Amino acid sequence: MVSLAELNPQQAEAVRHLGTPLLVLAGAGSGKTRVITHKIAWLVGACGLPARRILAVTFTNKAAREMRQRAAALCHGAQARGLTVCTFHALGLQILRHGAREAGLRPGFSILDTQDVLHLIRELIQGGDAVDTDSLRAAISAWKDAGVDPDRALREAEDEQAAHAARLYARYERQLRACNAVDFDDLIALPVRLLHEQPALLEHWQQRSGHLLVDEYQDTNAAQYTLMRLLVGVGHGLTVVGDDDQSVYAWRGARPENLRHLQRDFPGLKVIKLEQNYRSTGRILAAANGLIARNTHLFEKRLWSALGPGDPIRVLPCKSPEHEAERIVSDLLRLRLRYADDWGNYAVLYRSNHQSRPLEQALREHGIPCRVSGGTSFFSHSEVKDLLAYLRLLTNPEDDAAFLRVVNVPRRHIGPGTVERLAAYAGERGVPLLQACGEFGLRERLPADAHRRLTRFAEWVEEARHRAHAEPPQAVFRYLLAELDYEDWLRDTSTSPAQAERRIARVGELAAWIGRMAGDEQTEGKDLEAIIGHLALVDLLDRNEDERARDAVQLMTLHAAKGLEFPHVWIAGMEEEILPHHANREGTGLEEERRLAYVGITRAQRHLTLSYCTSRPRAGETVDCTPSRFLRELPAESIEWHEPGSPAAQARVRETGRAHLSNLRSLLQP
Ligand code: ATP
Ligand code: MG
Repeated sequence: MVSLAELNPQQAEAVRHLGTPLLVLAGAGSGKTRVITHKIAWLVGACGLPARRILAVTFTNKAAREMRQRAAALCHGAQARGLTVCTFHALGLQILRHGAREAGLRPGFSILDTQDVLHLIRELIQGGDAVDTDSLRAAISAWKDAGVDPDRALREAEDEQAAHAARLYARYERQLRACNAVDFDDLIALPVRLLHEQPALLEHWQQRSGHLLVDEYQDTNAAQYTLMRLLVGVGHGLTVVGDDDQSVYAWRGARPENLRHLQRDFPGLKVIKLEQNYRSTGRILAAANGLIARNTHLFEKRLWSALGPGDPIRVLPCKSPEHEAERIVSDLLRLRLRYADDWGNYAVLYRSNHQSRPLEQALREHGIPCRVSGGTSFFSHSEVKDLLAYLRLLTNPEDDAAFLRVVNVPRRHIGPGTVERLAAYAGERGVPLLQACGEFGLRERLPADAHRRLTRFAEWVEEARHRAHAEPPQAVFRYLLAELDYEDWLRDTSTSPAQAERRIARVGELAAWIGRMAGDEQTEGKDLEAIIGHLALVDLLDRNEDERARDAVQLMTLHAAKGLEFPHVWIAGMEEEILPHHANREGTGLEEERRLAYVGITRAQRHLTLSYCTSRPRAGETVDCTPSRFLRELPAESIEWHEPGSPAAQARVRETGRAHLSNLRSLLQP
């Protein structure tokens, strides 16, 4: 039997509440996620709801993985079989796979990532500048989020510029469908349309969602919200938890007001508030509360901690980002000497990815294991993208984007002129590029040499496709590398031997990853097609989280840290222009930045240190920086400024000296 003893009365009430939809609205660290995991176990263990009828949705793959593990442990293993815990996008993908035919897609459809999408848009506007492509992509994304199709976008266009964008949207959609591909927004938008238009599918998925649980609800956008409503239907199996003060994805269409809409759309909605914070010491909590009180509020919330005041929050002024990194590392070593705990208990957070470089370098210099989440995604490296494009082409011969990416990589002397004529021919015939290569009519359009090279390539792809059907994914990947002489190609095209080695190492990592995916129980299929399908959704580094990687200092953006907690936290770059970000210094933008700072502060359990630089390089010059206004907004009694030379700082210098020595010793020990 599932026990509710580990919950406070409000949490237990939230777990037991059935019969009407439920919203748990509460501040950071109050046990919202804990309510979700316990409720899953309660539904399975005490209510007898089969695990396969429970869908739990959260914001990142990492959070989903953690939630699945916790829920499974609470359910005692076997009962949790068939439970779905994933992101909205992964759920959308499942729905879309199931109804691919109805959505006008063929099996094995591809998912384009942001880079692919930009590439496609650039082709459509024939090499327009980067600003055009970015703003077009954003416009298309916003239309999809709002459920607006190209026809309606055109009808509602208010000026010629908007009409032009709408026409491009139409061409973009046609192109995607012709390639049998979808983009990220489609993973939500298409399932929404499917469920609207196909009663049988709607019934199937409503049956599946005996109970739907949503974590980090404040960050759902309009399309996700619609999907959620469709899944719940007239049933009442809905539990959502969220915190309007942690809404940090306005730029992706998330609106804290969504919390209000719930009350409007689900009249029987029960609201439970949680007020005890179990995560942070009193001073950390007071700082967080003091800061967020400056925002306007949709809901009033209170939050208290029984963990005692704890140590003061420290503010470290630094001269430069390098100096800042050094100070943080010294600090970190000092705490580690005192607590002798895991490296994984230490996290350094920042506003923007570029801030990670000096930090990572300083940690590595001191031999401290660290792990940078996010940043340059593994999948954005060209060699990884090229190889994945090959695999995509093998699973989906109609994937024109993949075809274009690899047709001349490695070099096959198939130039842009040839490709253009091929594309024109394929366009007229209405067939995919790969198929067009083999058609008789193409012969008249191309010089004999060019035609021969194309047919040779197409024949080779056909042969590789046969293998891909017959052999396991790892073997197919090895075959590809050998056939393409891929390592040699990397050596020939790299700017230095060191770069070549890095790229070859990444290919090795990709091979290892494919191997793990193919043998992983948790992925629903183990064939190449299933792997490719998941690829667009999963960050490799996320997947690569073995024990060793976990016992490392965590470096990540404030956005990526949402939902997580660490005993010791540093937030670097507490400066105007950085946090608040220079593009967001007024009005609602500023409030969003303040929420982001609130998210950062509330990740800390015992120690929190905030640092800023007095100068920093920008666009080739060194510029002076001003401490973030958020530092001034913290209650003065909770924080301690550590100017170099102050008595507190001198005492730390002595302690830090000891920490360095001890670290040196441990490095020297075998
Ligand atoms: P966030 O807003 O940051 O997502 P949250 O509200 O989801 O936070 P949790 O992560 O669920 O909070 O819980 C914060 C911490 O408090 C966790 O370590 C959790 O195990 C602990 N906790 C929550 N509720 C209780 C409880 N009733 N008793 C003891 N510990 C608890
Ligand atoms: Mg949470």
